[in-house]
Parts: sequence; structure tokens; C-alpha cells
Amino acid sequence: MLGPPPRSSLPTEVAKVPLVADDCLAALARGSTALMAMEHWADGVDRLLTELGPVTGASRVWILQLVEIQPDKVIQDYVFEWASSERYQLLSHYRSRFFASSLDKVEYQQLVEERQRGCRHSFCTPMLPEGPIRRHLESQATLSMASVPIFVDGRWWGTLGVDDCDRSVNWEGPGLDLLETAAQMVAAALYRYQLNHRSRQVELFHKVADCGVWEVSLRNGRVWCSQGLKVALGYPESSPRMPLRRLANRLHPTDRAVIWSWLRESRNAPAPVQFRLDVRVRLVDDVWSWYEVIAEVQHNDQGEPVALAGVLVDIGKRKQEEEQAQAASERDALTGALNRRGLDRQMSEHSATFPRHLILFDIDHFKQINDTHGHLVGDALLSQLVDRLQHELRPEDCLVRLGGEEFAVLATGMQNEQAMSLAERLRRCVSDTPFCIEVAGVSRPVSINMTISLGVAHQASDELEALAQLMAEADQALYAAKHTGRNCVVAAESKAIYELGS
Ligand code: GH3
Ligand code: MG
Ligand code: MG
Repeated sequence: MLGPPPRSSLPTEVAKVPLVADDCLAALARGSTALMAMEHWADGVDRLLTELGPVTGASRVWILQLVEIQPDKVIQDYVFEWASSERYQLLSHYRSRFFASSLDKVEYQQLVEERQRGCRHSFCTPMLPEGPIRRHLESQATLSMASVPIFVDGRWWGTLGVDDCDRSVNWEGPGLDLLETAAQMVAAALYRYQLNHRSRQVELFHKVADCGVWEVSLRNGRVWCSQGLKVALGYPESSPRMPLRRLANRLHPTDRAVIWSWLRESRNAPAPVQFRLDVRVRLVDDVWSWYEVIAEVQHNDQGEPVALAGVLVDIGKRKQEEEQAQAASERDALTGALNRRGLDRQMSEHSATFPRHLILFDIDHFKQINDTHGHLVGDALLSQLVDRLQHELRPEDCLVRLGGEEFAVLATGMQNEQAMSLAERLRRCVSDTPFCIEVAGVSRPVSINMTISLGVAHQASDELEALAQLMAEADQALYAAKHTGRNCVVAAESKAIYELGS
């Protein structure tokens, strides 16, 4: 963990710090247990220093945390301390908080560089040459000092040290070894804490964002994915292997094809290219659910593509809401029939289904009905009309309210005669039975006779202009029906009139 060998600044005649090996071992063991057992790593560190202090016989054991290295200074914070007596305490001193050491001074620059490289230090104040380090130690009445850097995850995180205000001793050898072992224990505890913290953050992120993280090696096809995702896909949390092919089969074939083609195009791109796609994933119990894939090809230091990694965000709820909102926007609020937008979508979705017929119809003299019974009764009548006609239609036929009291039926797969007889059935279904309307708090039940006029047009092919033409022809046929006396069906091509049922 540590770098180059220790640097000595001591003449050999200075006495070594007296240490009892058994006491040192016992102190380390008790400190280690505390570091493992304490809920917060910092409490464990306090305990470790409390164990180390007495066995070293030092005045203070301390830890400085590196805050920042700036071009001209290093900022550190005095974060942990054990002191053998109150008069040696520095922790509560304001000068210990976030103090800066100037890197303009060569000694400090050298000290920082050596700590960054992992060097240990042992200073005997009276033996030091004049300079900032000696002045600093003297200002604290420190006669000898030893320190070792603490490295966490490969980076200089801080420094563990001892100050002795009573003895000018040499800490090299067992003294620094003891400190170094303690520093490694602190580093391990802190690293464990950081990992734990990160894994909690990741878990929380997965939970809040409803997402799973995954990675596929482009070298061997090995798949790694986060626990929640594994479970959603039906694998035990502890499952060591996730077969790529089986995972890919969980994707809807259309979405899978899009992903493969993106991967083929982008795997050799020099820089990471991000990819986003809403995909359907088959979960456990064969339930399909919507996810958003956000993926990126990962490259190694040589710029070679090595993995495909990303997140899978559960957007099932959002998709459901979008679909509900879209469905609602395609329906007429009063009658529940499709509206013009709904008809357009049906037309485009079934654009390849031929033959198809459009039956346009309009209520006869509806204005009079409104005038006689009131607008609310008119509204209720429109609703009841839609309910009644829906029963005459097949599930695949679309009943549309184009606006006001004008409606359309889009029917596919019928011969002309069948479409005409459907229109005739609709006409009769309206005219043969009066509508019984009651608007609560407004009118008593009232029976209303009503008729509709219908125009039927037929589209045989998917020529570009065919759609607009279909509408126009049906409209003309409806117009003809109105002018022929209403309550009748007119076919667009022949303008043949199917007389009233009478
Ligand atoms: P025609 O046989 O020629 O179609 O006669 P009409 O009275 O049905 O036709 P006109 O176009 O003169 O009047 C249509 C009426 O439909 C006028 C309007 O008040 C009524 N109407 C349109 N939308 C609604 C609605 O949402 N609710 C109600 N109650 N009436 C509506
Ligand atoms: Mg009308
Ligand atoms: Mg009208």
C-alpha cells in the first residue's frame, strides 16, 4: 500500500521509542475490533487512537485529513485526536481547523510530495535544521513526531501521527510500523464505509428511479446486472451467470432488432455514443412491461470497445398513463365514441386493410329536437344514440363522432352489399325504436322519435388521394340522402337510394 522506503531525518544516537510488542499488538487488536463493530467508522477511529496512545507513551496521537492541494498551499483539517493530558489537546483549537501550509516553503513541498508517495516520517525536533517544520514543532512544544500517510482507494487521504512533548525519541522501526498498521486499519474502515455508503446510494437510486443497471462484456458476452433487475427478470439475486441470449430473448423482437443494428453501427465509433430506446421486456410470468434502455459502448484506455453498459428504467407506469392520455384524446367526452383524431389513427393503422367502407350519418332535424326538449336532452340523446349503435357494430368497426350530430362508421372487410345493409340496419335501429330520455333534475322521462340520414362510400385501394376522396364521396352521398327526404341510405358510387324502411 505504501510507496518508497522511509526517510530518516534522525542521527542514529537518538534513542528509539520504547515499545512493548505485546501491548502494541493488543492495542491494535482492540482497535481493529472497535473499527469493525462501531456503527460509524469515525467512532472506531476514536477508539483505535485511544488504544494506541497509552502504548506509544506519546503526548498526542492525531489524524489530519487532506482537504485540498492548491498550487501554492495544502489545506488540511485536524480531525481526530487522543491526548495524554488536557494540556496537550489541539483538536478544539481554532488553528487546527482547515489550516493551510504554504507550499512556497521547500520543506513543506517536500513533505507533501513524500506523503503523496506514501513515505513515513520521523522527526526529532532538536535535531532538525532551522526551518518551518522545526518552528512549527517548537510552537507546539513537540520534541519528537512521527507520521504515516493514510491511503484510501489508492489516494492520499490524510496522515496519522504521534507527537511527543516529553521525549526526543526516534520513532523509526517498530514505532512507524505500529502507526502504519493503524493507518491501514483506518483506511480499510473508511473504504468499507465509503463502499457501504455508495451501495446504499445505488440501492436508493434504483428504488427511487425504478431502474436497474447492467453491463455486457463485448469480449465474452458476460452479463452483469443489478440485483433488482435480476429479480424482475426472474433470476435469483445470487445468480452468478446471466446468459446473454436468454436475456436478449426477453426483449420484444422489434426492439431487439433496433438495438442490434445500433450496436453494429456504434461499437466501432471512436467516442461513446449514447443510445435511448423505449423497449418492451418480457418479465417473469410472461408479463410485458415497458422500459427505457439508456446504453453506451464503453472503451478501454486504448480506445477499443469493451462493454455495452447502461440502465433499464421502468417506464411501465408512464407508458400506461401516456396510452390512457392518448386514448382519452382520441375519444369524444360526451358520447365516448372515437373523435376525428381517433378516426385518423384508425385510418392510418388500418391503411393496408381493404376493402373498407365509410358510412357518414347525421341526425335529422336535430335542431328541432334541441329546441323542443332542451340542449341537455339533446346531449343525452347523442349519448344514447352512440350506445345503441355500438350494439349493432362488430368490435372492429369504429364509430366516430365527427362533430355536432354528425357521425361516421369505418368498417373493413365488407362487400358493398354488406356495407349497405349495415348502414340500413343502423338507420332502422335509430328510427324503429323511440329514445327514452330522462335528465335527472331537468326533465321527466320523454320519448323521442329520431331518424338519421346516411351516405356510404367505398375505398378499394390505398391510392394516396383515396382517403380524402373516401370522405368527400361519403359526404356527397349523405348530402344526397338529406335532399332525398332524410331517413335513408345513399351509396356514393351509384347514388342509389335505399328508401325508408316503410
Ligand atoms: P338536418 O336534418 O339538415 O341535419 O337538420 P339539423 O337540425 O340536424 O341540422 P342543423 O345543422 O341545422 O343543426 C344541427 C344541430 O345540432 C344544431 C346544434 O345545436 C345541434 N348540436 C350540435 N352539437 C350538439 C351537441 O353537442 N349537443 C346538442 N344538444 N346539440 C348539438
Ligand atoms: Mg342534422
Ligand atoms: Mg349536421
